[in-house]
Amino acid sequence: MKWKLGALLVVGVLLVSMVPAGWTYIKGDGVQTTVTPSTGIVTGMKPEPQAPQHQMTLQIDNTNALIQSEITPIVDGLGMAIAPFIDESGNTMLPMRFLAEAFGAEVGYDDTKRATTMTVGEAPEEGEVSTQIVAELKQNDPIMMVNGTQHTLSAAPVNVNGTFYVPVRAVSEAFDWQVQFVPKESGAFVFVGDGEEAFSDEDVVYLRTEGAEKLGLSTTQHVNDSLILRAGAEDMLGNGQLLDLPEGQGLIYQEGSGYYLPTEIMAQISGGILSADGFGNLMQDSKVISTDTIEQEGLYYHNITAFATALSQNYMELGNGIIMLTKNELAQDDNRCAAIVSIVMERLPAITETIPVADHYVALTFDDGPTSGLTPKLLDGLLERGAHATFFMCGYRIEDFNSFGSRYLAEGHELGNHTMDHENLTNLTTSGQKQQMNDTTALIEQYMGGAPTLMRPTGGAYNDNVKATMRELGYPVIMWSLDTQDWKTRNEDAVYKEIVNNVQDGDIILMHDLYSTTVDAVFRAMDALTLQGYAFVTVSELAEIRGIELQPGEVYNNLRAAA
Ligand code: ZN
Repeated sequence: MKWKLGALLVVGVLLVSMVPAGWTYIKGDGVQTTVTPSTGIVTGMKPEPQAPQHQMTLQIDNTNALIQSEITPIVDGLGMAIAPFIDESGNTMLPMRFLAEAFGAEVGYDDTKRATTMTVGEAPEEGEVSTQIVAELKQNDPIMMVNGTQHTLSAAPVNVNGTFYVPVRAVSEAFDWQVQFVPKESGAFVFVGDGEEAFSDEDVVYLRTEGAEKLGLSTTQHVNDSLILRAGAEDMLGNGQLLDLPEGQGLIYQEGSGYYLPTEIMAQISGGILSADGFGNLMQDSKVISTDTIEQEGLYYHNITAFATALSQNYMELGNGIIMLTKNELAQDDNRCAAIVSIVMERLPAITETIPVADHYVALTFDDGPTSGLTPKLLDGLLERGAHATFFMCGYRIEDFNSFGSRYLAEGHELGNHTMDHENLTNLTTSGQKQQMNDTTALIEQYMGGAPTLMRPTGGAYNDNVKATMRELGYPVIMWSLDTQDWKTRNEDAVYKEIVNNVQDGDIILMHDLYSTTVDAVFRAMDALTLQGYAFVTVSELAEIRGIELQPGEVYNNLRAAA
């Protein structure tokens, strides 16, 4: 995760006193919304008592924990930040592996019982009395077996994105661990200990103070104390509340100079402290405070760093087109940033037609479809990931599989022509080539609701004659720069590795929506590459990003940036 901490300048005491306590936002209809920040910080005296031994402090929605007073990030098996949460029935759910490892418990899986096990203590030697405790838990099953005795849990363990969460109270009871909850108003902490005694009142005060000092704000508290915008989103978040942006007036990004916001929105958010003069300069107290202005469609936009400075806010770019202005300095903690990004991406979805802000772009292309069942699954996964792809279709397939045809354009994908009968065009006369193309285009228009904009020759076979035909019919000829060999291996791991090991910015990746192994592999590859700053766009979007106008009859193998 890439992020930067912007410079923070305090612009004098006078200004600080003018800064509103919350974000004020006046909508077009004149309705004023003021949202005030919640602090969530627990203050208290530092008492004499020491931290209790063998103890762990967690906080709801905080991706860090304290184990024996040491800050410890909570991560899943893939190294992604995770955090405790409270389920709909009020059960506090903790990641089981993290909980177990903090107390030296072994986690295993019992194949015959299909249960996840947590074991405390050594297996007994022969003749010894066992002191070992084994708990068996199953996903979505509220029954826990402890040394063969059945216990009913207040909540079934759940699997969230591959992490097994358990209700902390019930599991702790199985091992005689102590648990203490601190309510939301006092910080939403959970203390777990394996000592003999329950936590005393002094312990709780101590741990609460220590937790507030060391763990900082939870992810939710950070979001609730900030102004967050995302490029391409229709709303913004002001202290955790969704505030709508005027149509077409969101955050915009300029290569090299960062993010800009329209004056009008800046003025509203700042409660009128900021304005613009007739030249578009950003004004505060009748003084020009920034001339870093761009004009777009008759509106002035100002660099967000000037805005942050004027309001004495910390400014951060969190990746994925997300910026955050906050009074609370965010610890330089990638784990926490990742957790905030995932909340924001869910709450501020980017509009699908816009090209996402990313470090690298590639075009995923799928040939020889559509395929009933498989292509819809692929479309679902692309939609979930905010990704666009290009589909080079065969006419004979469209005749058979077209019930989902309207989805392609609606979900931002690009339509491509791959001939009617998967014919090698170099073996055909000019009129044969045209017939193969025109018949397919007619079917695409009929079932997909729009004409194809590109073509890919079957088998990648083209010659001057094919190029001349495509020039006449208006199709750029799209080849590829990364061949996944998916048709040959039909193996998920192999296809996944071909992509992630070879991908370069600007690649056109060849796949086929004919095999479920391809679909599974591409989802995995997309998830891995997203973490490396990649976004997935159509071939034409990739050309647009590169400033290339695709020409009919010209052949494109990739759309990498010019060296
Ligand atoms: Zn093909």
